[in-house]
Amino acid sequence: MTHTAYIGIGSNLGDPVGQIQQALAELEQLPQSQLVQTSSLYGSKPMGPQDQPDYVNAVAKLETELSPLDLLDALQQLEQDHQRIRERRWGPRTLDLDIVLFDQQSIQLPRLTVPHVGMHQRNFVLYPLAEISPELSLPDGTSLQQLLDNCPLAELTKLNL
Ligand code: ATP
Ligand code: CA
Ligand code: CA
Repeated sequence: MTHTAYIGIGSNLGDPVGQIQQALAELEQLPQSQLVQTSSLYGSKPMGPQDQPDYVNAVAKLETELSPLDLLDALQQLEQDHQRIRERRWGPRTLDLDIVLFDQQSIQLPRLTVPHVGMHQRNFVLYPLAEISPELSLPDGTSLQQLLDNCPLAELTKLNL
C-alpha cells in the first residue's frame, strides 16, 4: 500500500545548504519510495541552545510503501551517513530528518510519534509544508491553515538559491 509522508529536514553544520541538497538526492533513492515534492529551503533561528549556527530547513513529500518504522530506520540511517553526532537536546547537527505526517495516522510508539509533536509551534515546519500542501489537515481535523494562523513567520526566511 502506498503512503504519503512529509519529512522535515534541518541542518546547521558543515554546509547546511549542501547537506540538505544531498539529503534530498538521497531521499530520491530511498527504497520503495518516490520523492514527489520538495519545498524551498528556509533559514531559521535555532530552537533551544542559542550558541549554535542558524538552521536551514525544508520539507519533502514522499510516496512510500515503507511502514512508518521502516521509514524511520531509513531516515536515521541517512542521518548516520551524514555523520550526525547527538550531544545535547536540540544541539547542532549536520542533518535531522523528522517524520512530520504519515497519511492521516496517529502513531504513538516508543520510537515514533506522528504527527511530529513539535510541528504545531514550528514555523520552519509549517511554512514549508504549506508551500507544498496548503490544504493539509491533521488526523484530529485541525487544518494546516489553523496552525499557520497561530504560528508567526517571525524570523523565518525563504532562501534565494
Ligand atoms: P525534535 O524531535 O524535538 O525535533 P530532535 O529532532 O533534535 O528533536 P532527535 O535527537 O533527532 O530529536 O530524535 C530523538 C528521537 O525521536 C529519535 O531517536 C526517534 O526515535 C524519536 N522520534 C519520535 N517521533 C519521531 C518522528 N516523528 N520523526 C523522527 N524521530 C522521531
Ligand atoms: Ca527535529
Ligand atoms: Ca529528529
